Amino acid sequence: MTSVLETAPAVTARAPAKVNLELGVGAVREDGYHPLATVYQAVGLHEDVTAATADAWGVTVRGRDAELVPTDETNIALRAAMLLADEVGGDLAPVHLTIHKRVPVAGGMAGGSADAAAALVACEALWAAGLSKAELDPIAAQVGSDVPFLLHGGTAVGSGRGEIITPVLAKGSYHWVFVPTPAEGLSTPEVYRTFDELTEGRRVPEPEPSPAMMAALRLGDAEALADVLTNDLQPAAIKLQPRIGEVIEAAMGFGALGAIVSGSGPTVALLAGSQEGAIDLAVALTASGVADEVLRASGPVAGAHVIPAPRLT
Ligand code: ATP
Repeated sequence: MTSVLETAPAVTARAPAKVNLELGVGAVREDGYHPLATVYQAVGLHEDVTAATADAWGVTVRGRDAELVPTDETNIALRAAMLLADEVGGDLAPVHLTIHKRVPVAGGMAGGSADAAAALVACEALWAAGLSKAELDPIAAQVGSDVPFLLHGGTAVGSGRGEIITPVLAKGSYHWVFVPTPAEGLSTPEVYRTFDELTEGRRVPEPEPSPAMMAALRLGDAEALADVLTNDLQPAAIKLQPRIGEVIEAAMGFGALGAIVSGSGPTVALLAGSQEGAIDLAVALTASGVADEVLRASGPVAGAHVIPAPRLT
């Protein structure tokens, strides 16, 4: 068991979850990856990661779904911290990470990637490494495709496997309601396999961000954005988990402006016209029994950043 002294130097960083406003998927490449053109938005549902100097490398996970998260070296926040230590070099003492989770695990909102982004920022500050976010990007991309975006936050286009980030000129603030649905049968590889099946024999165009999405974001108008939300993985996700389709239909009936599967699912992201609209939608979904649980958050928000002290709320 790793021990962390109360007095050990420690830094806490906070990173957001994401929703994909647009997820264009191309035909599978020879290396098994699908080329992506995505538009990410960082939303105000946060993970906090404290990095403290310790006598051995380790990780403790607290909060939502903590029991589902590995605490060995397969934890991607720990992997990120160890990769950064290799990059920084020198005689660094090991670090113990304490992760406080709020983002559903394996929900398509990139909670694990947020932990990795927060771990990079916390360790960089703990070691006073003097690395900019641009200098952290290659390590972030090595850990996972969504990690570079969660370092930077805001609204951005992601290309390649999603790891090549270009900020987008976006106005306004958007109010989201997220509905976690059952994850059974909906692993990311299974969703991509089903996408391949559903598109077999069809010409799948090279994905690119749509001009209509860019225009809606420049306008800063939630209704315009709602009309252009698209996710090429959505038919596959609904095929594997029909509950997703039912939630989308019910939410549109309750006045959501738009609905989309977040990433490869199974979380459904619903766009409301205002904060009050999001509260009304959340109440309608839970009171009617359509959803057991809903999460509300606005976006865009900042990427991973140091916060003064752990806030375990
Ligand atoms: P994405 O949207 O990027 O596909 P996700 O939100 O669906 O990601 P995550 O919660 O990021 O999924 O994690 C997926 C899997 O990664 C989990 O089932 C878990 O086993 C593993 N994992 C490794 N490290 C972490 C971590 N720090 N937090 C959460 N999951 C982790």
